[in-house]
Amino acid sequence: METLFALTNGYMGIRGTFDEGTPAFQKGTLINGFHETWPIVYAESAYGYARVGQTIVNAPDGTLIRLYVDDEPFNLSQATLINFDRSLDTRTGILTRDVIWEMGSGKRVRIHSRRLVSLEHRHVAAISYEVTLLNADAPIVISSELVYQEETRPVEGDQRGSRAFAERVLLPKELLASGAKAILTAMTRTSRMTLACGMTHLIENDNSSSYDVKNLSRNERGRVVVSVQGTAGQRLCLTKVLTYHTSTSASLGELAEQADWSLDRALSLGFEGLAVSQQVCLNKFWDRADIEVRGDDEIQQVMRFNLFHIYQASARADGMGLPAKGLTGQGYEGQYFWDTEIYVLPFLTYTSPHMARNLLLFRYRMLDAARRRAREVNQQGALFPWRTINGEEASAYYAAGTAQYHIDADISYALMKYVEVIGDRQFLYQEGAEILIETARMWRSLGFYSSRVNDQFCINGVTGPDEYNTVVNNNAFTNLMARENLWAAAKTLQEIRDRNPERFTQLIHETKLAATEIDEWQAAGDRMFVPYDESVGIHLQDDEFLSKKPWDFANTPPEKYPLLLNFHPLVIYRHNVIKQADIVLAMFLLGSQFSLDQKRRNFDYYDPLTTGDSSLSVSIQSILAMELGYRDKAIEYLRYALWMDLADVHTNVDQGCHIASMGGTWMAVVYGIAGMREEDGRISFHPRLGQRIEGLRFHLTIQGQLLTVDIEGRKEQTTYLLREGSGLTIRHMHDELTLEPGKTVSLDFNFQEIH
Ligand code: BGC
Repeated sequence: METLFALTNGYMGIRGTFDEGTPAFQKGTLINGFHETWPIVYAESAYGYARVGQTIVNAPDGTLIRLYVDDEPFNLSQATLINFDRSLDTRTGILTRDVIWEMGSGKRVRIHSRRLVSLEHRHVAAISYEVTLLNADAPIVISSELVYQEETRPVEGDQRGSRAFAERVLLPKELLASGAKAILTAMTRTSRMTLACGMTHLIENDNSSSYDVKNLSRNERGRVVVSVQGTAGQRLCLTKVLTYHTSTSASLGELAEQADWSLDRALSLGFEGLAVSQQVCLNKFWDRADIEVRGDDEIQQVMRFNLFHIYQASARADGMGLPAKGLTGQGYEGQYFWDTEIYVLPFLTYTSPHMARNLLLFRYRMLDAARRRAREVNQQGALFPWRTINGEEASAYYAAGTAQYHIDADISYALMKYVEVIGDRQFLYQEGAEILIETARMWRSLGFYSSRVNDQFCINGVTGPDEYNTVVNNNAFTNLMARENLWAAAKTLQEIRDRNPERFTQLIHETKLAATEIDEWQAAGDRMFVPYDESVGIHLQDDEFLSKKPWDFANTPPEKYPLLLNFHPLVIYRHNVIKQADIVLAMFLLGSQFSLDQKRRNFDYYDPLTTGDSSLSVSIQSILAMELGYRDKAIEYLRYALWMDLADVHTNVDQGCHIASMGGTWMAVVYGIAGMREEDGRISFHPRLGQRIEGLRFHLTIQGQLLTVDIEGRKEQTTYLLREGSGLTIRHMHDELTLEPGKTVSLDFNFQEIH
């Protein structure tokens, strides 16, 4: 519940812990990118290993509000509760809790609290805490606090958890307190990042009795205490405003000043003012990003829950990355992976393009570190880190980390999709071109022309998305995506040379582009080796895949999954077993490069070997199953993806939401059920909605135009409406049509038909 009820805005996140602080599993106030570094210690080290670990640091907790009535503390785990209700409203972005506490004396107290993390004011969160005495008079005391957090709960033997530090890593510096305000400043021990956070309050009292406010902040703890002689029916309302500011360079004094301003400004808006702006942000979001599901309320709810969390994860990330768990928990140490580019960017590109652009810019800013990393692993160009916060590689296990060179191609792929869908050529020519040049260089230096396979271009010693087959030769996904990357670089550079010679000259200077390079990338792409087995008629996941021993699925009981927590890696690596969609993912991302028949043969072979031990798998399997007409399977996979967090499918939701899987659910609906595909900027649909769901409605932003697609399952009919724009040509099934603004077009489809 702490994870599911987490509120975040992409810059800061507060887990859904109770206002009173207990009971709690893992409290969390997480600021995107606010991290500690630590030396990675290897018992046996080697050249080029990642040296510096990075872990998100829990910031001071400002949610604490302790309540005393008749001097009795309100303690949720022991109190007699007449009513208890918590809800998260994805339309308003507000977490509400309603409790009626019956005291031993028979006195009843209603506590109504609301919490938000502002989507408009990036550094602000607020709580409204209302106490009403229902049937008797009593003194009320509220102690509102801002305190340093307890230790992070370590997750033993699971690399998906977070590191627990042996010593305190957030060092308190100053406490500034006056009136109903307290500001703390602190610095991380090794990374030397600075933080200022603060709280301030507004007190409203229903009746005329006066209240008393004391600022008891001391040492490292901010504390403001309000007391009032309460009477029956009286409502005491405390509005608590919180702020967080962090930096890699600003001084503590500067940050404290910013915190002070944020607090004053937010308090002047009050909780209601903040709630209004929250609503405005969410209205805008839902207007362009909602998926309406008719005929199945559960799927509708869970779908919106997922979309809400992706939005929360990215809304105000602004120039920062998107951690695997968003800011809902400390799983994966608050680090950024390829999850962003392959799983979340499609949704953002089509619904909130500026957020997609920000995330790509964030990668662009990482380019210098990626250039250095390429040198460290003896390559040219740039190699983006497999996992990171500050741009440096933080993966201590190279086999399932650094070896995933495909991240370079994933970033380039997402970049090209963004440009294709949005038409942002300026971004392509400026930042995009540099990313393409450096990643293409990396591939060119990593691979070689092998005489063993007819001088085709081979890439050895890599790990594809499937982390159960590591450091392999010619992983098909990697080679196909690298080819795309090389081609995209060659094509883009030729285009810039022809259309914008000035920029081309600039790029030659900036990147020391040599005259021969573009042709070399084109040639390496053209001659890319893609492993294929004629006898079985399938693409090979890698050169050796067929030589491995079959995994004994029949004798692997459910409790042995995920395999990574129950078998030594070497056992896994020598078997024919797959963690997550690999070739199947390539068949989705690069769909037009496979015939339908080939897709079927590959899917039929690889799907049964895929454990889905990574939450990134099922959504992709669903899309392919849908395309191939395996509808029951497709829906089953979709359901797993949809309920990944709400039903805690992987039993680790305590570590945070699976943001990539949530992005995957959007893809499974739009690419799977609606059968959308994009090819050179042209969008096509092949709806496959059966009888089970009555209808679906969603929106896409394409080259600045807003398209609404409405699919009726029973009628087997799709209605297209161009809500904004000047005209858009799309394909429906096999027909091309041009949509005019404001005019609906309804067309039939046959859901049995396989494309
Ligand atoms: C998956 C990776 C993913 C990471 C973070 C791992 O379990 O195998 O593909 O990037 O989780 O979500």
